[in-house]
Amino acid sequence: MPIYNEEGNIPKLYERLNSVTAALAQRYDFEFVFVDDGSRDRSLELLLALREEDDRVSVYSFARNYGHQVAVTAGIDVADADAVIVMDSDLQDPPEVSLDLIARWETGVDVAYAQRRTREDGAFKRASAHGYYWMLSKLAHTEIPRNTGDFRLMDRRVVEELRRYPERNRFIRGLVAGIGFRQEAVLFDRDARHAGETGYPLRKMIKLASDGIIGFSSAPLRLISGVGVTLALLALVWTLFLIVARLVNPASVIDGWTYLAAAMFLLGGIQLMMLGVLGSYIGRIYEEVQGRPLYAFAVREAARRR
Ligand code: UDP
Ligand code: MG
Repeated sequence: MPIYNEEGNIPKLYERLNSVTAALAQRYDFEFVFVDDGSRDRSLELLLALREEDDRVSVYSFARNYGHQVAVTAGIDVADADAVIVMDSDLQDPPEVSLDLIARWETGVDVAYAQRRTREDGAFKRASAHGYYWMLSKLAHTEIPRNTGDFRLMDRRVVEELRRYPERNRFIRGLVAGIGFRQEAVLFDRDARHAGETGYPLRKMIKLASDGIIGFSSAPLRLISGVGVTLALLALVWTLFLIVARLVNPASVIDGWTYLAAAMFLLGGIQLMMLGVLGSYIGRIYEEVQGRPLYAFAVREAARRR
């Protein structure tokens, strides 16, 4: 659970985690991993107090605010378990839904992601999220489930794969979707934030949104070549038209203008096409630099070697 200024939510969150996990205490050991992302309120103090009285609680606190995706990554990195559940700590992701996630995991699913059937956010958040996930589904080369945040259960083997992704601008839901294995949605109704205010102002939302698109799509780069080719073609048609006009009705065109106008459009088109060529190499470099693993094995049964 990433924590950023959640002092109003921590007691309630802990209480609900407690009652949810009580039902399964016979069968599983639980660890509650809290990653404090440089909170400026009393969150850390409250967490350390929980740590004192409950040894299932682990507390990690960042040296400053690194952001939600980094906090989630840190939590996943330090968790050592058969399965890891990531959830927000403002009770928008109801802890009770974890029971459904765990039940689904028990059927052999590797990633049970909680998909919002309804949500209680404001109109702007709802509309922007809806539009964004629609666009992402059109652009992304990985199929990223819609209406899904980071609230999910991941089997240990998915967690181990995820740790092999070193990229800095992380869009975790996309990375997980790209890993593979058996992934299934569990529908839930997303509540409103229990207390406090969002740690995701527009600036952070835009950053996350662009990490999703830039990290999982080359459409913006391909746009450059597309515009270039279109412009060059238009320039060609335009040039032909000017030449015809010049020959048929010389009085209709100013001296020297035909040549200038045609050259200008043509050059513009060529420049954009060349930028597109550069873009496609930059796209390759970007992919190489992301350093994502090429594959993940779901089954590993090697013959004994002599
Ligand atoms: N969060 C974080 N670092 C940040 C912003 C948010 O760790 O810089 C945490 C926050 O405590 C919460 C989760 O990420 O557990 C989701 O954030 P929030 O509820 O503020 O976002 P919203 O639900 O409004 O999109
Ligand atoms: Mg929230």
